[in-house]
Amino acid sequence: MRDGLAPLKAGGAKIFLEQPQRKGLPFGWKEGENVYMNPIKVVSYGRSLIEELAKELVEKYWNPKDPLSLVKVTVIFPHRRPKIYLRHQLKELIKKPFIPPRTYSLEEFITELALKIEDPPQKVLSIPDRVWLLFHSLNETKAFKGIQEEFTSFFPWGVRLVGLFEEFYKEMIKPASIQYPLGVHPKAQEFLEDLSEIFTCYEEALKANGFTTPGRRLNYLAQKAKEIPVNGQNVFIVGFYALTEAENLLFRSLWEKGARVFWQAEENLPLLYKRWQNLWKAELEFIKAESNWNPTIHFISAYDLHSQLSKVREILEKEKDEKDTAIVLPDPSALMPLLYELPEDQDVNITLGYPLERTAIWGLIDQLMKLQENFDPQRGYYYRDYLSIIRHPFLKRLKLSADKTGQAVLHLLESKIREKGKPYLTLEEIEELVESFEEEELFQWEIKTEEAKRFLSEIHQTVISIWKEMGSLKDLCKGIEKILNFFEKKQIPPKEYSLEEEFIYTFREELLLTLKDSLFFEEKIDQKLLFELLRELVSFIRTPFEGEPLVKLQVLGLLETRLLKFDRVFVIDVNEGILPPSEEVDPLLPPSFRPVLGLPEREREEEIIWYHFQRLIRSAKEVYLLWQSNVLSQDKGELKMERSRFVERLLWEEEKKKGRLLEDEIEKISLNLCPAFLSRKKEIPKKDKEKLKLKLFSISQKRGLSASLFQTYMECPIEFYYRYILELKPPEEAIEEMEGDVLGEVIHRTLEEYFKPYVGTTYDPSKHHDPERIFRLFLSNLNKSHLQHLAEEKKIFIKEAVKYRLESYLNSIDTPTNIIDLEKELSLKVRLLDTEWNLFGRIDRIDKIKDTFLIIDYKTGSEAKEKFYFSLRIPETFDYESLKELKKNLNSIQLRYYIFLFTEGGKKGVEKVNAAYVNLGIAKQDADSNTVKKKEIIKYFIEPKKLEITTERVSYFQQKFPKLLGYLLKHILESPSYYSSTDPVRCSFCEYEPYCLFSY
Ligand code: SF4
Repeated sequence: MRDGLAPLKAGGAKIFLEQPQRKGLPFGWKEGENVYMNPIKVVSYGRSLIEELAKELVEKYWNPKDPLSLVKVTVIFPHRRPKIYLRHQLKELIKKPFIPPRTYSLEEFITELALKIEDPPQKVLSIPDRVWLLFHSLNETKAFKGIQEEFTSFFPWGVRLVGLFEEFYKEMIKPASIQYPLGVHPKAQEFLEDLSEIFTCYEEALKANGFTTPGRRLNYLAQKAKEIPVNGQNVFIVGFYALTEAENLLFRSLWEKGARVFWQAEENLPLLYKRWQNLWKAELEFIKAESNWNPTIHFISAYDLHSQLSKVREILEKEKDEKDTAIVLPDPSALMPLLYELPEDQDVNITLGYPLERTAIWGLIDQLMKLQENFDPQRGYYYRDYLSIIRHPFLKRLKLSADKTGQAVLHLLESKIREKGKPYLTLEEIEELVESFEEEELFQWEIKTEEAKRFLSEIHQTVISIWKEMGSLKDLCKGIEKILNFFEKKQIPPKEYSLEEEFIYTFREELLLTLKDSLFFEEKIDQKLLFELLRELVSFIRTPFEGEPLVKLQVLGLLETRLLKFDRVFVIDVNEGILPPSEEVDPLLPPSFRPVLGLPEREREEEIIWYHFQRLIRSAKEVYLLWQSNVLSQDKGELKMERSRFVERLLWEEEKKKGRLLEDEIEKISLNLCPAFLSRKKEIPKKDKEKLKLKLFSISQKRGLSASLFQTYMECPIEFYYRYILELKPPEEAIEEMEGDVLGEVIHRTLEEYFKPYVGTTYDPSKHHDPERIFRLFLSNLNKSHLQHLAEEKKIFIKEAVKYRLESYLNSIDTPTNIIDLEKELSLKVRLLDTEWNLFGRIDRIDKIKDTFLIIDYKTGSEAKEKFYFSLRIPETFDYESLKELKKNLNSIQLRYYIFLFTEGGKKGVEKVNAAYVNLGIAKQDADSNTVKKKEIIKYFIEPKKLEITTERVSYFQQKFPKLLGYLLKHILESPSYYSSTDPVRCSFCEYEPYCLFSY
């Protein structure tokens, strides 16, 4: 709601508002009629708004002799939920059968009024239909010069445009064009410059076809408010806070006809109520709380989402009572983890709109679209997309026959696809793989090859092939319906009641019905657009869980709490970006342009959320505000999360009230308090330490303990366990996934062959520099490797990139160097923990520059560096935290390990040895090779200018490094468990990740 009347001009853009009469007689009131405008009732937070309303309805309208006496009353709420509560309250007060008043959500009220006023009734268009209509009307009328594009590229902009037009309708503004809108996307600039013409064209198209939209319908009703056939005196408008201009006009006309308005607030009114009161010049009547109402607020900073939920569970279990409790989830994605965490015997009612795009059924449909989008007509389906499909829980639950699931077939198929190693496969090739299943592999599951083949072919036909031909909404609906039917018929239903059924219901009733009703249901449209359109539509759909108010524990979204009052409230995730949510970037209309067009500024949204949040808090007796301080991100590891500015505001208010700082009173919950499933041991106990020692000793005897063995343990003891103790092979990868490793081998071999002629002599770059030769060697090695099977375009890219890297490296060698050795194997016996161990290492190249040996290790992956610090602290304990700390401080062990071997345990010439990584993966392939600096390629262990300082180094390699190795060995042999990765990011690169139960 904007302050006062709409301006005639704002920031230069002309705006008109279809302004009904505001002075003299109330709007919609006929000459001679009585005018009585009721004071607005303002119910204190300490009272229940619904209860106060119910009391007034009973007092004013209820006649015990007439069970129909309440029917003449109309109550309008902002949403549907309070209806159930009102009915419940009336039942409590009346205690006998009655017919309840007519209660509406605003949306229902508008629809009902429209049916009475619109002649003929207009069809409300869905979002895709509005975009379709706009596109065609612009094309036909040529009203907008930039429209000559395809519907596919217009669609995302069209969605923004029709969304913006909804705002104009609701705010009763005819948009003006913006001349020279600077700082926006060029396409947005075109739209904004012709905004007025585009809007007019849209409006005319809607009018000409008898269509409307929710915003346009509201606008129309606001204009026709005086003709509304409603007796204002029996109308109650309850619990609204912020109004659009159209709502304001509509409600005001009802109020001026005698309707009663109920707010919830204290005497010091919240901002938007103050504006509302000023605008209507309304009197207020306060209904105060009986005593000084003051909720107890607990501020709790938890480590992450699961720590928060665990705390909620702890409180609920401790205080088993009959209090009306609400758990409020500002982010609905916390719903599933919460349900998992609640005590099993707890009755709970859910009232929130769960986003359809977060459900498993949508996950499957979206993945099927991706599979089709990445389909290569020559080569088939991309294997990773295909694997994601067969790993989906819906497929795993498919029945092979009446008494068997097909999970084993899909599992075997996955390993065969990996073994085959082809990045793309046709469905026929995949079906042929079933032939290669070993008899006994299937036999143990009592499955015959024929049965497995039939099972797979049915999945292919019903779930996958149908996507190829999809070219219209009709095809899409038919295909999805077929898939849903298939799963309903063939799936083993989950043992417990599953929310999935609700989601599938929404899928059919909301999504498919909207599509079926579309204006372009049968039109042929581009598949890319078809999928985009489906994704766009799904992003708006929520599964509306609505429940029973009598259940003592309610789980709600924040907006679903409007008007309701609870004894105890938990609010989860009171974090910045969640409450209030982060602002969506609008590429069409950046926030700074909104006032120019007369639209409310974005801050109003925050004010609305704040009001609902603090109303909920202030109306409860006991409140727990929880937020997370950390979150784990797949690619960035642990991230800090900030508590919400709403917490800051409440804390500040509480501190003022109490006259002391509350920061120290915030309860802090560390990760240790995680619920069972998070703290589900991220470790494997070392049961037989004797056996472990024998195994390690045998490795030492056979090939020696390598730097990578220690490095692996430091980075992830569980991976160490898989790789060195169990000797598990990582799952086979297709060529594209192995690309990095195989390419690394090819580059190593190429460099070895390039420098081979100079072993024992001097490589002088001014004479021997030969980029053509090194590239020829590379091509020959590439063609001998698995990478020869890669797609041609991929190979071209690899060749270009590697050529550039190798040239950059050769260019960086600027002084003559003696090549001492290549691929040099070194070993050393050392005594650690009272046992003699063999250490082993293979060094890529050893150079001698002047009188210093340089140990070189080629790195072809991400950039590697390892620095010498004498002061590194070796931990004293052998737990997870100590290992984590060591890894953090040390990072890598490899170069020092090689120096240790080369100098025979620090005894021979440490002063004259250095080491370096040659990073061959850092150069950007599109840069000029001469611009890559030497220091970006070569990362020294000891900076050459510091080589002179030798004392610390000698003692480091003779004493400290053996101690470090001893510590790591002891950790391997004696710590109680194999722990998971010391850096969660590692899991996303780990070869064992597909099968690892401990990955982050
Ligand atoms: S996935 Fe993560 S926890 Fe599992 S072995 Fe790999 S790095 Fe370790």
